[in-house]
Amino acid sequence: EAKNRGRSCYSFFDHELDERNKRLVEIQSELRNALERKELFMVYQTKNHIHDERVYGFEALMRWNSGKLGMVRPDEFIEVAEDIGIIDQLGEFALVQACADLQRFESYSSEPLTMAVNVSMRQLTNSDIIATVSRVLNESGLEPAKLELEITESLLAESMEELQPILNGLLQLGVTLSIDDFGTGYSSLSYLTRFPVSTLKIDRCFVTNIVSNKSDATLTHTVVGMAHKLGLKVVAEGIEDADQLALLRVYGCDIGQGYFFTKPLEFVDMVEHLKQQQPQPDWAI
Ligand code: C2E
Ligand code: MG
Ligand code: MG
Ligand code: MG
Repeated sequence: EAKNRGRSCYSFFDHELDERNKRLVEIQSELRNALERKELFMVYQTKNHIHDERVYGFEALMRWNSGKLGMVRPDEFIEVAEDIGIIDQLGEFALVQACADLQRFESYSSEPLTMAVNVSMRQLTNSDIIATVSRVLNESGLEPAKLELEITESLLAESMEELQPILNGLLQLGVTLSIDDFGTGYSSLSYLTRFPVSTLKIDRCFVTNIVSNKSDATLTHTVVGMAHKLGLKVVAEGIEDADQLALLRVYGCDIGQGYFFTKPLEFVDMVEHLKQQQPQPDWAI
């Protein structure tokens, strides 16, 4: 009896593993043609000034609407794209699209705006990234300082030596570098001073419990202070309500991002959002 139960549990687990492998194989084979089938697109989430909630800029996030699999999350497919060697193409698509869309968004804003694009480790360790970013900037005519590249923290710590010249090359193009998901990786504070980054993004997992959990609040407050002493700008991710925002304001955090301001929106929906953000002319009130 016990033996039987053990066996059926085992085969249930086995079955789950099979399902997961099957999905992975499907993602791998479908993703190869996703670009040419035009199944990939970018959505945008605003970053807002913490003190007055004005729009500061955007983060571009990739979406995949697969004909066969439906919507697939980037958490699932970015890693696969790295594994099957197509992350450079996906990354270039993201850059081209995001730079072009920023210029369109700016026509709906009275202030200059910025665009952040995520860059994964495989993209960074391939030194072609410098040429790619340079070409995209030239072709779009975008002012380099408006483009921010977000690099995930855990990846940075792994290969400092290898990355240093590439990060410096990118910096020379005039783009901004920021550390994403700060606090989740193995946090060696020393690389904050060694890497030429100008912005630090505090991971959502700290912000989520900032109101209820005293140690998360202390940590966030401390990270903001430390970053400022190092001359870095601080962005808080995952702000979902006004209480979290109020606390971050007290801590002096610079920029905020999260569902409280906007969910990631498709291009046309972001244009509508921006139109609503513009100060109304007198005659319209
Ligand atoms: P990330 O760069 O840390 O992006 C933030 C993630 O948090 C996004 O998930 C966003 O939709 C989500 N988010 C934003 N505000 C909130 C909030 O208030 N509450 C909650 N619960 N979530 C929020 P998404 O779009 O699923 O992206 C996941 C990750 O996939 C990104 O994390 C990034 O590492 C990666 N990724 C997305 N697009 C790209 C891309 O174009 N290239 C590369 N290399 N990676 C990408
Ligand atoms: Mg990011
Ligand atoms: Mg993040
Ligand atoms: Mg992330």
